[in-house]
Amino acid sequence: MSETIYDEWGVPPVINATGTKTRIGGTLIREESLEAMNRAAEAFVRISDLQQAASERIADATGAEAGYVTDGASSALTLAAAACIAGDDLGTMARLPDTEGVADEIVMPRSHRNGYDHALRLAGAEITDVGGSDYDLGTGSENTELWEIADAIGEDTVAVAYMAKPFTRPPLPEVVDLANEEGVPVIVDAAAELPPTRNLSRFIEEGADLVAFSGGKAIRGPQSSGILAGRGDLIRSVARQHLDMHAAGPAYDPPEELVGADDLPGVPRQGIGRSMKVGKEEIAGLIAALEAFQAEDDEAVLGEWHDRAQRVADGLAGIAGLSVELAGGEKTEAVTTVVATVEEGAPTTAADVVAGLRGENPRIFVGADDLHDGGFTVNPRCLADDEVETVVDRIVARLEG
Ligand SMILES: *Cc1c(COP(=O)(O)O)cnc(C)c1O
Repeated sequence: MSETIYDEWGVPPVINATGTKTRIGGTLIREESLEAMNRAAEAFVRISDLQQAASERIADATGAEAGYVTDGASSALTLAAAACIAGDDLGTMARLPDTEGVADEIVMPRSHRNGYDHALRLAGAEITDVGGSDYDLGTGSENTELWEIADAIGEDTVAVAYMAKPFTRPPLPEVVDLANEEGVPVIVDAAAELPPTRNLSRFIEEGADLVAFSGGKAIRGPQSSGILAGRGDLIRSVARQHLDMHAAGPAYDPPEELVGADDLPGVPRQGIGRSMKVGKEEIAGLIAALEAFQAEDDEAVLGEWHDRAQRVADGLAGIAGLSVELAGGEKTEAVTTVVATVEEGAPTTAADVVAGLRGENPRIFVGADDLHDGGFTVNPRCLADDEVETVVDRIVARLEG
């Protein structure tokens, strides 16, 4: 490999065998995206005009009424919550995250709670979670019943939040029906649910009001980019709270379709989204990446990942103390991963293998989510073909102690 900027700075290189993880750089940005960023860097543009153009392209890609380029899926969730709380009210926008005297509850199935829901709370939302863990514990057939969501929706409810995974329940269309009946929007976190490319439109088709995707995972756009797609009125609220806003009244003339300034009593203040700035380069880079991603053949991409996973599994087959299988479909719907389990009595443990690999040069990151079961995983999607052998060799060396 040629010298990287990290080599030049003496920062240890990484081989990514764990997938699109932000902490090791997410993904490798597409050529088309980088080129768009470079071109965007060559000239000034009014950001609201550019977001308006991006909105149309996101709408085309997702089937939503409108869209917005955010600073990642996480900030898309914060902006979604801010839009659901503030709606069109400039006073509330200016006060967020202070929600005193304003409806601010977001209802969520308890089994959908996760570290990223901090993003919703950042806007001032209070999460009311419902249901339990009965299905996971084997003490009942569902974690959350629909009626429990309905029961929790009250005067202070501004949204229902839903984490999209192939296995999450209750099914989204049923949650949407119920929320819509109560007049409450549904925010879907679909940050990591690509591919398949059809998921770009799936959640909107199923009735979601706002859907968040990461731009720095499968789309392979800039790391600090994301998409919020959804209802025009909510995206308008997002724009009003995100754009660099406070301007002299007589000169204030943002694009009507995106910001709807004609209906405003005056110029909005800088909103809660101002700390989540998105540059012209990220907007252009994200849209170029989105269009390239859409044009991809899911089966070809998944097939390539599957073949790479198979090569890793073949390389690890027959190693004493290690059992290996291919898995796919549960956590990510699409990606085949290698699940390796370090057997009892082996000279090392999965935790030592994982920690040891991370301490090497180059650092090798394998998946560590199954350590409690004595396992680690190899995810092929960010691995280069010429890194497969190194990963296999280093795992084997670690197992041999
Ligand atoms: C990655 C991820 C996020 C955050 O996405 P960013 O684009 O990194 O901000 C949010 N939710 C889920 C479920 C994720 O996997």
